Amino acid sequence: MALLEVEDLRVAYGKIEAVKGISFAVEAGEVVTLIGTNGAGKTTTLRTLSGLLKPATGKISFDGQPLDGVGAHKIVAMGLAHSPEGRRIFPRLSIEENLRLGAFLRKDPAGVADDIGSAYERFPILGERRRQAAGTLSGGEQQMLAMARALMSRPKLLMLDEPSMGLSPIMMQKIMSTIGELKAQGTTILLVEQNAQAALSLADHGHVMETGSITLSGTGEELMHDESVRKAYLGED
Ligand code: ATP
Repeated sequence: MALLEVEDLRVAYGKIEAVKGISFAVEAGEVVTLIGTNGAGKTTTLRTLSGLLKPATGKISFDGQPLDGVGAHKIVAMGLAHSPEGRRIFPRLSIEENLRLGAFLRKDPAGVADDIGSAYERFPILGERRRQAAGTLSGGEQQMLAMARALMSRPKLLMLDEPSMGLSPIMMQKIMSTIGELKAQGTTILLVEQNAQAALSLADHGHVMETGSITLSGTGEELMHDESVRKAYLGED
């Protein structure tokens, strides 16, 4: 059984059906990406997996357990962490306070302290500025903080919603190479990205979403070489 299994998931905002019956799975240790244009339903999918939105129908199972009716806090406790679109860090709190909030369910202070140390090793800038308000960080640094905060719950699955959004090319590369490092360390990742090239080059599997449906699935490699993907998402004629 895969770590995450999504079967015929439908999600609606009132009468607007944003996700129209999608199915996919994420195996432990994999990076799986959902790519597609604005409004395709990718963010809605992640928010539903986190328990922030209620599906209309469909089955989600995580680590062998159904997620139906399970609240967002419990889902974090089960090991599913979400680094949301737009980062959503707490700008007035310090960097370290933001990291501690990522560990709010944990009851092992020594482990939390170790993990804060690991976050500072991975992202030295966060350590250097640990006591400063998080709102003073640049966009790319805030993205690092959002990822580090999500990792503070020691997730079995890390969901990243558009980590490269609004970043300079250099910062984007840094974020993508961090995702590559997390993958090499065995972190399981569900990555939503508009930057299809970067996402597919990291991903074991990918799914193309268009207006609420998955229209194409394959390995990252297959999708990167698929003609329709190249035309629609990789900017080729
Ligand atoms: P983006 O990259 O722009 O976030 P996306 O693929 O993540 O795109 P969603 O944000 O999931 O797409 O949006 C899917 C559809 O649902 C869109 O048509 C969007 O307008 C609609 N939608 C999203 N949030 C709401 C909401 N709170 N109320 C009503 N409709 C919404």
